[in-house]
Formats: sequence, structure tokens, C-alpha cells
Amino acid sequence: MSFEELGRYQEANDRYQKAREFWLKENELIAAADMAVSIGGNFINLNRLDQAKTMLEQAQKHITPDIASSYSYMNLYLAKVHHKLGNHSQALEYIINAEKAFNDHHNARGLNLVLQLKSQIYQALEQWSDAYHSLSAYVEAHDALDKKTMSDRNSEMQARFNTDKIQSENSILVQRDKDKEQQLQMMKRNEQMQIIIIVLVAIILAIVSVFAYKQLMRKQQFKFLALTDELTKLSNRRDTYAQGQHFLKAAQQSAKPFSIISFDADHFKKVNDNLGHEIGDKVLIKLASICSSMMRETDVVGRVGGEEFLVLLPNIDKTKAIEIANRLIDTIANYDWSQISPHLHQTISAGVASYSNETELSPLLLKADKALYSAKAAGRNCVKAE
Ligand code: GH3
Ligand code: MG
Ligand code: MG
Repeated sequence: MSFEELGRYQEANDRYQKAREFWLKENELIAAADMAVSIGGNFINLNRLDQAKTMLEQAQKHITPDIASSYSYMNLYLAKVHHKLGNHSQALEYIINAEKAFNDHHNARGLNLVLQLKSQIYQALEQWSDAYHSLSAYVEAHDALDKKTMSDRNSEMQARFNTDKIQSENSILVQRDKDKEQQLQMMKRNEQMQIIIIVLVAIILAIVSVFAYKQLMRKQQFKFLALTDELTKLSNRRDTYAQGQHFLKAAQQSAKPFSIISFDADHFKKVNDNLGHEIGDKVLIKLASICSSMMRETDVVGRVGGEEFLVLLPNIDKTKAIEIANRLIDTIANYDWSQISPHLHQTISAGVASYSNETELSPLLLKADKALYSAKAAGRNCVKAE
């Protein structure tokens, strides 16, 4: 049928012939006759009219009016053959059969062909009026067919246009989906970046905190070292004087008493000379610990020289300070120094001074030193006050 549509009638007939032989072998005579109709039609187109006539007449034996499609075309082709062979009356009979059959099963295209041929047959028979009517009917039918074809085409175009529109809309939607997907991916990536940045910042903060903490610890350590005597762990000279100054100011403001005790190890040079520097150090450590253990939390005991110490006693008047100093020298004198070295006896001498009108610490220190000197001069292991 495709070959037929392309006008390649011989090739079409070769295929139809094969089909016809197949149906004949199967004893399907109607199907074979249907093939014969198509072959006959193509023989006409090839102008092999005798072969066409023979083929169509063979088909005629099996194709009855109830086989509408084949019957209509068979009659159309028979009409054509007879018309071409000059048997116009015969042709007219067949064309009337064909017209009825096409009409019965509403085949507009077939009817169109019929009307055209019918008009030609009437022309050949010189029946001009009938020829005219057939031709008019043909023109009308042809026009209707054209319109139908146009409308079919229009519908098809519209359907195609709609399809194109839907396709373009679909592709826009798909593109939008893709864009959204990309945006989502970007947002996810941003989120990941944010998490990474947060983690990095947290790590940096942790590192900085550790460094800051270490720095603070070091600073405190330095401060401690700067203010502490390494051997005895008491406040060093600098720190003791600073705190003394602070207590003095407090006493000034509050009009409360403030006393200091300056004490010095007796004949300490001999300890070093006779027992060695190491024993000397142990004696100093012990003096520091005895003195610290005897004082209050608020008092300050500092090492202000090699074997010289200073005790700061806020809110303590002179009498009380002398009492404390006496208790201190007694405790030291009575301590069992043989724990450090056999035959060791260590005493201290102490000078007491109390705040009167001093604005600075040094005059007070001077008073205490004077008293200490007096104690040394008085034979040591005793307390003097200024
Ligand atoms: P005085 O009773 O008059 O105070 O006599 P002293 O021998 O204690 O006084 P002096 O000032 O002559 O001697 C003090 C000695 O203290 C001299 C020094 O070797 C010793 N000394 C100072 N600092 C330290 C120290 O840190 N460790 C030791 N082991 N000895 C020290
Ligand atoms: Mg001394
Ligand atoms: Mg001494």
C-alpha cells in the first residue's frame, strides 16, 4: 500500500501478488480476491488494461456486495477498465454499483473518484446533462473532501501546536525543577560551609582559650614568683613592704592600731660556718613556718633579708605586739632544733614598732630596726620596742 501511495505500482503489485498467492494456498479465497482487486487497480495505473480486466474478473467470482470495501473498489476499477477499453455502457453499470457501495459505507474519497469517472463515462456516452451533474457532484464532493482534509489538518496542527506548547511548558517546568535542584544544592553546600566555618571558629576559639588560659596561669605564676621568696615561700621583701604600706594607709583611715615585728636570727653566720649552708637554709625555712603558724590569717609574714623577717600585724597595738613577739622568741628558743642538726640551738631577736603618725612605712621600719638593734645589743633572744 505504501508503494501504491508512492506511485510505484509494479513494486506494489509484486507484494500484493505474494499476499494473493499466500491466501490462495490457505484457501482464503475472499482475501485472495481482495488482493486481486488491488492488483487490478495498479494494472490500470500501469495501463496494462487486459491484465487488469482479467484480475478484476477473477475477483468478481468471490467478492459479493456484502464485502463492502472490496466490492466498491472492484466495481470502480472494472468501470475504469471498461471505460478505457471503450465499453462505456458496461463501465456505467459498474460505476453505478461502485457509487452505491461507497455511499453505503460512507467512503467520501471513493465516492469522489466515482463521480469523476462517472462524469467522464457520461461524456464518452455523450450524455451531457448527466455528465454535467456528475461533474458538479464531483466538484462539490471534492470541495467537501478538501475542506474535511483541511479541517483534519487544522485539528492535527492544533493538536501538534498544543503538544508543542505543552512540551515547551514541560521543558520550562523541568528547567525550573533543575534550577530549584541547583538552588537546593547550593543551599546545602552553604549549610555545609556554615557548619565547617562554625566548627573552625569553635576550634580557633578553643585554641585561643587554651592559650589565654595558659597565659593567665603563666602570668599568675610570674606574679607569684615575683612576690614570693623562693626558699621559704613567704612574701618577699617587695611584697611585704607593699602590703605594709597598704596596712599603714588602712590604719591611717580607720584610726585603728597597726604594729610590726622585725626579727633576725641570732649568730646565724655561725650556723652556716659550722653546719653548712644547707642546714642554714633549713633553719630559715623552719623559722618561717614557726612564725607563720603562730600568726592570724590577716597577718603577713615576709622574709625581707638573708636571715631577717618582718611581721605585719593590722589592728594590733604595741602592747599586744610585744606580747606576740615575746611568744614568738620563746617558741623559737624552745623549739627542738636538734631535729635539724644535733646540738643546734637557734634563737631570734625582735624589735617591735607601732604606727603613731607615720605617713610612710619606712619610718616605722626604721623604728623596728632600732628596736631590733637594741635587742641584739641587750644580748639577743629578747624583744625590744620603740
Ligand atoms: P647577729 O646575731 O648579729 O645577727 O649575727 P649574724 O651572724 O646572724 O649576722 P650577720 O649579718 O653577720 O650574718 C648573717 C648571715 O646570714 C650571713 C649569711 O651567710 C647568712 N645568710 C644570709 N642569707 C642566707 C641564706 O639564704 N641562706 C643561708 N644558709 N645563709 C644565709
Ligand atoms: Mg641580719
Ligand atoms: Mg642575724
